[in-house]
Amino acid sequence: KAPKKDVRDYIRTIPDFPHEGIMFRDVTTLFSHPRGFRMAIDQLLHPYAGEDIDVVVGLEARGFILGGAIAHQLGKGFVPIRKEGKLPGKTIKQPYTLEYGEAVMEIHDDAIEAGSKVLVVDDLLATGGTAEAGIKLLEQLGGEVVGCAFVIDLPELGGRAKLEALGMDVHILCE
Ligand code: IMP
Repeated sequence: KAPKKDVRDYIRTIPDFPHEGIMFRDVTTLFSHPRGFRMAIDQLLHPYAGEDIDVVVGLEARGFILGGAIAHQLGKGFVPIRKEGKLPGKTIKQPYTLEYGEAVMEIHDDAIEAGSKVLVVDDLLATGGTAEAGIKLLEQLGGEVVGCAFVIDLPELGGRAKLEALGMDVHILCE
């Protein structure tokens, strides 16, 4: 077997999950590998070295795993953006469009100090709807999103273009 060299080599594809016809990009095999996981964290952080970041925000759920490690590495705090109904405190909500129907993302209304520089993290960018909802929540709280970092881009779904049109700096490790 050829040695695994980059992040892409640690990601597996599961056909027909969660529905028939969907090729699910599964990062559990990246997270479980010590070298793969470290490589992903180092590469996600790379463009932000020397950048002034106050807080790392992860999008439920795999963004929590990446975002927690990144926050620890930076010596900063971590804030979750969650699907509706999971956060115990007072929240603000942002609906967004899914392939079938709508969903709502939430953040605690006191989680971000106005003026904070925020790095947003998730595993995969598809249409960009989830990340856009997260950005709207952060901006409502007065956060300044300095970057959006993902492991995987599905370029045909247009997420990068959507986020760049919002003026975001988008950093993605592989397609
Ligand atoms: P978007 O909102 O269309 O950009 O979808 C991105 C969200 O869906 C992220 O939170 C991803 O974790 C999740 N997602 C969509 N497709 C996949 C996949 O193939 N693998 C892992 N996560 C996915």
